[in-house]
Amino acid sequence: MNERIWLSSPHMGELEKQYVLEAFDTNWISPVGPHIPAFEKDLENYLGEGVHVAALQSGTAALHLALLLLNVQQGDEVLCQSFTFAASANPVVYAGATPVFIDSERETWNMDPQLLELAITDRLHKGIKPKAIIVVHLYGMPAQLNPIMEVARRYDIPVIEDAAEALGSEYHGKKAGTFGDLSVLSFNGNKIITTSGGGALVSKNGDWVERSRFLATQARDDAPHYEHSVIGYNYRLSNVCAGIGRGQVAVLPQRVEQRRKVFDYYRQQLADVQEIRFLEEPGREYYSNRWLTTVLFPDFKKREQIRQHLALFNIESRPLWKPMHLQPVFKGCLYYGNGISDDLFDRGLCLPSGSNLTLEQLGRVIFKLKA
Ligand SMILES: *Cc1c(COP(=O)(O)O)cnc(C)c1O
Repeated sequence: MNERIWLSSPHMGELEKQYVLEAFDTNWISPVGPHIPAFEKDLENYLGEGVHVAALQSGTAALHLALLLLNVQQGDEVLCQSFTFAASANPVVYAGATPVFIDSERETWNMDPQLLELAITDRLHKGIKPKAIIVVHLYGMPAQLNPIMEVARRYDIPVIEDAAEALGSEYHGKKAGTFGDLSVLSFNGNKIITTSGGGALVSKNGDWVERSRFLATQARDDAPHYEHSVIGYNYRLSNVCAGIGRGQVAVLPQRVEQRRKVFDYYRQQLADVQEIRFLEEPGREYYSNRWLTTVLFPDFKKREQIRQHLALFNIESRPLWKPMHLQPVFKGCLYYGNGISDDLFDRGLCLPSGSNLTLEQLGRVIFKLKA
């Protein structure tokens, strides 16, 4: 049996071990320590645009805090992209609010700005003003941010940018994660860079980011004893994980380049296969980190045949995200649809896309796909 080819596995650089050892040598084995502000500074420098960053235990935690900072609470509605991973929508429920799902457009597979406006006007008509919008850059492809932000501004609704899959992607030359009123990153093990598990909250509003650090460390008031006036959370990243993160940010530009090369290689090698369609960047203003290379087949049956054939040879592939409006747990939630995410889910597949894949491994995947 050939060794397993993974969809997206961790890829360490040279510095991570050194930073982790430093944490051990100085005994900063806690959610306090010098790697944490240093990692935050590294991310701020990488993203630019004057953003502030708080390092947290997960992207999910960052989304939860983003909603709390926007004062989302019991009875509120939050407009959320339907075509995404459940972690985009679950925090809406943690906050006691209800998600309202919006379908995607064909160009980027992300939130359709026209459907978004339709949903807003319809909810306003019913006397409900949505409290926030969660837009996702799925698989690293930036959403149509200009029209989405324009609609959000026009109706005065804050935007949370779920950039968990899009660190290193750009839209009109600016990094994903710098557009939302609040933005979220993830450093889970399968993402483009990892801290083994981790995430970050990003915003140009420094007060919000400072407040998120406070909420993430049990909301301790300024007193010698433990004094609390609001509910807190234990969401801060550990100094050990932040050490891994510092090493990973150092190789992030290379990781983006490597993932984009994986995409280019697939596309070039499979150019003559009529049944395979790639998700292209819709224009020069879009720059995807190509976190995962995704393809569409003519129909569900073909997609499943291919997925099972790859699995037979120990090659991991995965159907595209199952839209939230089709998930049992969100049954009964409002949904503004156009059938696009249903179709993508039926026909789409994620291919092995790690930055550490060898040419030999990619060759094996391509050979089996062609077969
Ligand atoms: C990974 C991911 C998250 C959650 O990040 P975690 O760090 O795993 O909690 C949120 N949204 C999307 C789109 C993701 O892919």
